[in-house]
Amino acid sequence: MKKRILVTGGAGFLGSHLCERLLNDGHEVFCLDNFFTGQKQNIIHLLSNPYFELIRHDITQPFFIEADEIYNLACPASPIHYQYNGIKTIKTSVMGAINMLGLAKRIKAKVLQASTSEVYGDPKINPQTEDYWGNVNPIGFRSCYDEGKRCAESLFVNYHRQNKVRIKIARIFNTYGPRMHTNDGRVVSNFIVQALENKDITVFGKGTQTRSFCYVDDMVEGLIRLMNTPDTVTGPVNIGNPREFTMLDLAEKVVAHTGSTSQMVFEPLPEDDPVQRKPDIALAKKTLNWAPTIELDQGLELTVNYFRKILK
Ligand code: NAD
Ligand code: UDP
Repeated sequence: MKKRILVTGGAGFLGSHLCERLLNDGHEVFCLDNFFTGQKQNIIHLLSNPYFELIRHDITQPFFIEADEIYNLACPASPIHYQYNGIKTIKTSVMGAINMLGLAKRIKAKVLQASTSEVYGDPKINPQTEDYWGNVNPIGFRSCYDEGKRCAESLFVNYHRQNKVRIKIARIFNTYGPRMHTNDGRVVSNFIVQALENKDITVFGKGTQTRSFCYVDDMVEGLIRLMNTPDTVTGPVNIGNPREFTMLDLAEKVVAHTGSTSQMVFEPLPEDDPVQRKPDIALAKKTLNWAPTIELDQGLELTVNYFRKILK
């Protein structure tokens, strides 16, 4: 059945892949974005599709449309971008969630929240399971993002309990792939761009901190499967790749995939940078019948090829 689907943050990295996939699946897509970190370039190839509509709008302002489903992705995701204007980041998460939940309630749409592994903060347990409450510094530099996303989760469950809104909460772990911005600031795109330009690779701290990287196509598949679960499944559900790597491992892999002459340089570790992060995906496997299929080496190859083309 053809559905009308609103994707907020649809011109961003993840959002643009989601819009493309939903169109390919035969749906009508409304892409809402204020272009803070998103780019027209990400969705330019979709503009000629009559079932794709681009709407320039800021999600902190109320918005009305008739839709069957809402994917709420609008929010800067890279630490340098979300810390640039922390107040705006909080407003985007909190007021954005209120606006989208209010809309979902009014039009009886299902609504999926792009939450994050950052709700676990600097986790004391590894891997992280959905029942772990997290270890977040409420006044640190990352708190505008972490606490904004935690408040959004709370808003989602409260709209579900009080108003019976059909919700889905996805806790997304580090995701990478083509269409990340060259100046995005997140580690995978930073290392690849530095390596392709034969510049120093900036490893923060000792590089022993870990992350688990999910390729974007796997993430999009997981999000769509979560949206399509029965109404009794609300989440939160961890979606990510459980293979854990240190930043030194990642730097070495990027050098190998690019054939670069870059050297690693060590820079100070940003405040509250989590030491470890690895999703427990047992719940996603069980409720979504989902697991990632693309290993880091394969995903890096695809991402390096993308950056090679755009950096020419
Ligand atoms: P991104 O920065 O590429 O995309 C975010 C998009 O939201 C951009 O297009 C931006 O312009 C838009 N946006 C920001 N503020 C807005 C506002 N007030 N109104 C309307 N649009 C606004 O980041 P991404 O990696 O694509 O992340 C998408 C979502 O997934 C975010 O909510 C992020 O928190 C979540 N997430 C991503 C990751 C990841 O590793 N990529 C991990 C965890 C969670
Ligand atoms: N990082 C790094 N060099 C960079 C950018 C990031 O070593 O040029 C590190 C960062 O300190 C963190 C990890 O890579 O430990 C992942 O950072 P990113 O900003 O991609 O995401 P997040 O910290 O939100 O997981």
